[in-house]
Amino acid sequence: MKKVRGSKTNKRIITRVPDEMSTVKHDGHVLRSGKKVVDRSQIGKTSACGAKAEKKPNQFTGHTFKNEKERFRLDGHKLIYHLDRVKDWLEGKRIAPIHIDMGLTKFCNMGCIYCIGVTQGMQRGEMIKGDVLLRFIDDCGRLGVRSIGFIGDGEPTLNPALYDVVMKAKDLGIDIGIATNGLLLDMDRAHDMLRSLTFIRFNLSAAGHESFKKIHKCSISKFDMLIGKIKGLVKIKRENNYCCTIGIQMVLIPENFDQVMKLAALGAEMGVDYLQIKQCSDSEYKELGINHEDYKRVLGDLKKAEGFSREGYMIKAKWNKINILNETDIYRQGFRKYDICYGTPFLGQISGDGKVYPCGPFFGKERFYIDNIHEESYYDIVKGDRYWKVHQDIIDNVDVHYDCTVGCRQDYINKFLWDLKNPPEHINFV
Ligand code: SF4
Repeated sequence: MKKVRGSKTNKRIITRVPDEMSTVKHDGHVLRSGKKVVDRSQIGKTSACGAKAEKKPNQFTGHTFKNEKERFRLDGHKLIYHLDRVKDWLEGKRIAPIHIDMGLTKFCNMGCIYCIGVTQGMQRGEMIKGDVLLRFIDDCGRLGVRSIGFIGDGEPTLNPALYDVVMKAKDLGIDIGIATNGLLLDMDRAHDMLRSLTFIRFNLSAAGHESFKKIHKCSISKFDMLIGKIKGLVKIKRENNYCCTIGIQMVLIPENFDQVMKLAALGAEMGVDYLQIKQCSDSEYKELGINHEDYKRVLGDLKKAEGFSREGYMIKAKWNKINILNETDIYRQGFRKYDICYGTPFLGQISGDGKVYPCGPFFGKERFYIDNIHEESYYDIVKGDRYWKVHQDIIDNVDVHYDCTVGCRQDYINKFLWDLKNPPEHINFV
């Protein structure tokens, strides 16, 4: 019987039970295979005359490294690394979010045709004021928020306070990541950004002039400018050994299926750390018209693109989301494998106008509106009753199978928390 495994050196290692092994009697008890049983007591023994030991079957050959360590875990969650807060929550304490996703503005200088932000209400010129943001960062430090992503809603670089806020957060020990279309990125602040950010991720879902115009609704010249900025940032990062991760995110829709391989090549050429390819999230009202069946046409290219990953450049499709394709219709329509959303206190979401909600898909829904950081300090909001009343409303009344958008941001941690809250019997038999 052969068991073939990969190895660290990519040499194939074969573990097998050789036919010449000593065997033991087994009192007439015949196995279904009819095979003899290996005498395990002889394994590894040197013979009396000092001859070479009998060949050892099933010997441990060391770690195979077939499952490589995931560098970023882009397609999953990291709540298991914050068990202190999970424990506090289980004990009924009013915890601070570990992470917050927030918009800094409610408008954008691009017009991507897949933008979920549009369904959450864009408003030209609307943004969170600089002094409010600086106070917010202070509050996050006091509360023990561990990271903030300036992700979602409007474009963060349209808020002039962005750079100072990032630097202040870094001083307070809060990790910051931003997702940007990059067009307005101030290259004079490149060093500040690369020194202070954990990651910067560019929203780029097209690899050429025409497709850029079609997908992002932006002029062709802007494509060259963006590529120039990304390359410039990579150069500065390398020259100065900055740790900031530079990535690209492609939002996959049928209109850009033909761009997958081209973008994989472009990412390598630009020298970014990763390309993440993400299925397009639709709203609970399916306003973006996503049909999961369409993704079947691109699976081959996604696999092929991932194969171009190499040291220092990772290409990763978010299979957990894409694989919804293989689910039954009920799951494709939004039914979930848990019944209650417990994730919102761990992962907060704030709109680009400063309004605090338990989650992004509920932006604009008055029932779930908690407060506005322009009017109340975030510290007091999180400590206040209204905040916890709304989270309880989610637990008690939201039907995650019907009221929620498919695969929302908290989906990964919700599965984990559901298991935690609903243990099976005999848990000590680990
Ligand atoms: S499961 Fe529903 S309530 Fe919970 S975060 Fe997702 S969309 Fe919001």
